[in-house]
Amino acid sequence: MNFSFSPIGVVHSPYKQKFAIPRQPGLVSEANGLIEMLPPCDKIEAFEGIEEFSHLWLLFIFHETMEKGWSNQVRPPRLGGNIKKGIFSTRTTFRPNPIGMSVVEFKGIRKENKKLFLELSGLDLLDQTPIIDIKPYLPYADSITGASGGFAPAKPEADMEVIFESTALKQCESFLGQYPDLITFISAVLKQDPRPGYKKKSEEEREYAVYLYDLNIRWKVIGNTNVVTTVEKKC
Ligand code: SAM
Repeated sequence: MNFSFSPIGVVHSPYKQKFAIPRQPGLVSEANGLIEMLPPCDKIEAFEGIEEFSHLWLLFIFHETMEKGWSNQVRPPRLGGNIKKGIFSTRTTFRPNPIGMSVVEFKGIRKENKKLFLELSGLDLLDQTPIIDIKPYLPYADSITGASGGFAPAKPEADMEVIFESTALKQCESFLGQYPDLITFISAVLKQDPRPGYKKKSEEEREYAVYLYDLNIRWKVIGNTNVVTTVEKKC
């Protein structure tokens, strides 16, 4: 049997590249985004009752990596990238069927210019991710007290200090009209230390960059501190 699905919606996310996206939803609660519903799933009656739920399950396609294939074993970044685990013991993006699932906070639903949007926060999804289904999160069934989390028993540490150089702070302030939570959002993303595991061991001071919203954020790592150096419009 073969199945073919069409997207029911598309994500508008501040994460414009894979680098620096948290590994699971809810780790950066300031990551706000939208799902733009696509016809024929853009009718408000299809969402009647949804406002009674605080969280939603999103089923989506790992569209950015789906062409890269998969293998039976992967090295989870959570384990430093050195230890192999079976693919079905992980939440890797490289899967036989490139389907992801994330619980996100549901903030509201609105119609704008004849389009229907769901407002969400706590996203771990790349911009333009195709959504194939949306279901309400049911606490009694989806949250299991005493469940064991294998090699990921608790939230990863988000223990980096984040500071802004004065130029970067001024640049951020100039974007607050458009992105009121920009400073807390950048801080929350960088607190997680987005560098790959093997880079974290390096003592070397290096500059990194990430694309969030339409902004290019640059920072350098000094010990346990991420120092934001520039926040500029991406050309
Ligand atoms: N919560 C989902 C799950 O468990 O299925 C995703 C987990 S996966 C480990 C999270 C990573 O997926 C993010 O850090 C990001 O790099 C990547 N990602 C997010 N959206 C993607 C997309 N549309 N295509 C490929 N990779 C994506």
